[in-house]
Amino acid sequence: MIIAMKSGTPAEEIERLCEEMLSRGFTPEKIVGRHKVVIGLVGETQSLDPDRIQEASPWIEKVLRVEKPFKRVSREFRHGEASEVKVPTPNGIVTFGEHHPIVVIAGPCSVENEEMIVETALRVKAAGASFLRGGAYKPRTSPYDFQGHGESGLELLAAAREASGLGIITEVMDAADLDKIAAVADVVQVGARNMQNFSLLKRVGAQDKPVLLKRGMAATIDDWLMAAEYVMSEGNANVILCERGIRTFDRQYLRNTIDLAVIPVLRTLTHLPITIDPSHGTGWSAYVPSMAKAAIAAGTDSLMIEVHPNPPKALSDGPQSLTPDQFDRLMKELSAFGNAMGRWPEAGANLAQSTRNEQPTALL
Ligand code: PEP
Ligand code: MN
Repeated sequence: MIIAMKSGTPAEEIERLCEEMLSRGFTPEKIVGRHKVVIGLVGETQSLDPDRIQEASPWIEKVLRVEKPFKRVSREFRHGEASEVKVPTPNGIVTFGEHHPIVVIAGPCSVENEEMIVETALRVKAAGASFLRGGAYKPRTSPYDFQGHGESGLELLAAAREASGLGIITEVMDAADLDKIAAVADVVQVGARNMQNFSLLKRVGAQDKPVLLKRGMAATIDDWLMAAEYVMSEGNANVILCERGIRTFDRQYLRNTIDLAVIPVLRTLTHLPITIDPSHGTGWSAYVPSMAKAAIAAGTDSLMIEVHPNPPKALSDGPQSLTPDQFDRLMKELSAFGNAMGRWPEAGANLAQSTRNEQPTALL
């Protein structure tokens, strides 16, 4: 249930109401929006009569029941306002959110060695990315494939952060590694395969670093939002949702089906910021530019793109990785789309020659 306060409600009245709700056995959560304050009540609110709550203060504008199974994640919980996820990075605070410029995250699938990760970091930064991505712990379908360098990979990410000033986004697969990862990462990624690892979700919810929650390959939107609810219910409100494609029946041409329709759907359901990952979403570098542009046009708040200095030699996800030169060209093209949406950080960037739509040479 949510209690929307009238604008201009004195802070003491809000505190008093929270105390009252606490004494009635509820857990009130104060959400300070851009225009008003909303008090969310979670717990057994089924038996509560909204009219009775309304009587608790003349400053209450409206009392609404959140009908969805996800509460904190729901758009109603913030009375329709989008949330912002502010991430401090060495280069400054980067904000993910509906009313902010599009945030670009780029980097290799896996951290392979210091030279490649630092080089990639510097190149993607120069092209306009705000975050470096790269896995030190890799979820691989085969146990015989490269599993990531683990702890030493984290050190390489720290070196790239130092060299570039970019924020770091990297995946946690096992709760036992979370503290080490959170010491280096500015945003902790929960991957598609772990989207319903509820104990991991609780652990990332109980720490302070923002969480990038990828959609599971066969997850419905409700499954995904309930996973985000797990994180938020442990106290971490900084969740970013990442669409990375869902299982496709046509694997001949695409690795996944990228579901861009989730953007407008999520806007109605949740206040959380949205990232689109066209690299995993298609599986082929040739298709990344089109889907990145489409994602901007559909209103994404952020993009996550795989970039590798030498994709044919990449230890994971080479076929879907752009070279730094291709990424450079793509960013110039994206600026036109971002500017058209009023959401590109640097206005007026030149349009470079079109990114080549090479045909894939091998199938996944
Ligand atoms: C990744 O980001 O490299 C990754 C493994 O992602 P996903 O969980 O979406 O497959
Ligand atoms: Mn990958």
